[in-house]
Amino acid sequence: MHCCKTGIDMNDDKKVKAALKDIYLRLSETYGPQHWWPVESPFEVMVGAILTQSAAWTNVEKAINNLKSAHLLSPPAIRNMSFSELAEHIKPSGYYNVKTRKLKALVYWLGENYADDIDRMAGIETDKMRQELLGVYGIGPETADSILLYALGKPVFVIDAYTLRIFARIGLIEEGESYNNCQRLFTANLKPDTALFNEYHALIVKLAKEACSKKPACGRCCLSQICRHGGKI
Ligand code: SF4
Repeated sequence: MHCCKTGIDMNDDKKVKAALKDIYLRLSETYGPQHWWPVESPFEVMVGAILTQSAAWTNVEKAINNLKSAHLLSPPAIRNMSFSELAEHIKPSGYYNVKTRKLKALVYWLGENYADDIDRMAGIETDKMRQELLGVYGIGPETADSILLYALGKPVFVIDAYTLRIFARIGLIEEGESYNNCQRLFTANLKPDTALFNEYHALIVKLAKEACSKKPACGRCCLSQICRHGGKI
């Protein structure tokens, strides 16, 4: 397929690989290291990955800090807490009743299947673990992949709404592209490198906040020279 948007022949692996590398380097030079995921433990990443659904990270931090300051940020504590107490603690992250159910489902699954041992989870083959996570109530592809990458250190590329928006604007995927197809763009054309995938996703989020928001500020975007929409939206 020839991408009329960027002028890149999408069947030319070398050109697609070069474009993805070029985008990464431009973002990296512009924004520097992002130091993700900004939490202290793999379990905290898992909790954050659920709480961040439809929520700004600043509000997730408030919810996590509520649990931390009450010494309740652990699988047994969340299992043993009443539904209403947990809901009260995570209220700042929004949708707190449904997120309470999701957190409860996560910690019961973690206890029953891995005795709360996240290192044991990390030892499971990536695709198998992904399928297991997707079977837990409240965990969809983005949450599962965030857990795989940021909690378990697996080389899995996380796709989110920002990635879909930005790469459609650039012209490397179609508008309305599926999660899996967008993920394939990265995994088929980048080496499976956990550190690279971690940083690339974090830089995409940074770009979405700094320039490529709903109303893009192409004039101050480091990708404007290679983006089909640069300066035209
Ligand atoms: S040039 Fe504009 S549309 Fe393209 S990535 Fe940058 S901000 Fe987004």
